Amino acid sequence: AGPQREQIAERVKVVVRVRPPRASETGGAIKVAPDHRGIVLNRESSTVPSSSFEFDKVLTESANQVDVYHAAVQPIVEDVLNGYNGTIMAYGQTGAGKTYTLSSRDPNAIGMMPRAAAAIFSAIEHDQSHSYTVMMSYIQLYMELLQDLIQPQNSDLQIRENENGVYVAGVSEREVSSMDDCLNLLHIGDRNRAVAFTALNAQSSRSHGIVMLTIVKRPSTTPKNRAVRQKVKVGRLFMVDLAGSERLKKSRSTGLRATEAVSINLSLTTLGMCINARADPNATHVPFRDSKLTRLLQESLGGNAKTSLVIAVANAVQHCEETLQSLQFGSRAMRV
Ligand code: ADP
Ligand code: MG
Repeated sequence: AGPQREQIAERVKVVVRVRPPRASETGGAIKVAPDHRGIVLNRESSTVPSSSFEFDKVLTESANQVDVYHAAVQPIVEDVLNGYNGTIMAYGQTGAGKTYTLSSRDPNAIGMMPRAAAAIFSAIEHDQSHSYTVMMSYIQLYMELLQDLIQPQNSDLQIRENENGVYVAGVSEREVSSMDDCLNLLHIGDRNRAVAFTALNAQSSRSHGIVMLTIVKRPSTTPKNRAVRQKVKVGRLFMVDLAGSERLKKSRSTGLRATEAVSINLSLTTLGMCINARADPNATHVPFRDSKLTRLLQESLGGNAKTSLVIAVANAVQHCEETLQSLQFGSRAMRV
């Protein structure tokens, strides 16, 4: 838990990222306003021909990873280095660009997670007056079970709470000291995740992937300031690649797929309610405890921690209805 901040909670920052259409898709479904805040979705085949929305930022299909970093990540990284919590989440249907945005390991398009890590290590290198320890965990939440992706045999981790706040009991925390360390752990985790899902004959896009970076900051110990050694600050950055938000077609909703859908729906709906409560000064009850996802993120969603929500959408007429749903989810988080 970070220190209490004086200011009242600010709402979640909502950034929309549009990905280009694939060769098999038809583009032209989305228009972005010149101010990069407005977005219009054209739905020619629908009875409601178009819908428009406003967000903190709309990144067109020509935006690159650096643009996403500046819009959604940079201010949060600065906070985390000062002992606050922060969260970056990617929401959208499967195939819309969540994983590419958050954790691409392509050297020409490094994702937000390794980029945030690189920025943290660079800041650490330039700060002579503190010493730091950075730890990384990588877990997934599938059907309300938390699995450690670094030690996958730990497949039912428990969320606990003590005087320092909410934590995941027994989760692997690996010390990292470079972006490459983080990329390696991401790679190991992704491999374990793929193995787990192949064994289940299921898709990893049906689970939430969660990377936690914990930064412990201590004043450098010199004889002069030994007295302030207890002033340790702990900041935590959550990066959450949410399960695909697409609604399952009724014909396929049987057995495991139906159970998955119910579980994803519960966590995304609860997440929406918790995010919306932040935008609403009159909200009284915030249902953090209704899903493991929101319980885990409680302290980061709850107010004095910054949160960015990246809504990933595809500029393709084939995906208009899901895009509409995703933009509506983002739009509710904007409302004050
Ligand atoms: P999701 O995680 O939302 O299911 P992915 O991130 O896996 O979607 O993206 C689906 C495909 O689209 C991937 O092949 C990815 O490389 C590509 N892609 C996603 N976003 C972009 C983008 N902004 N520019 C180019 N290609 C992208
Ligand atoms: Mg993905």
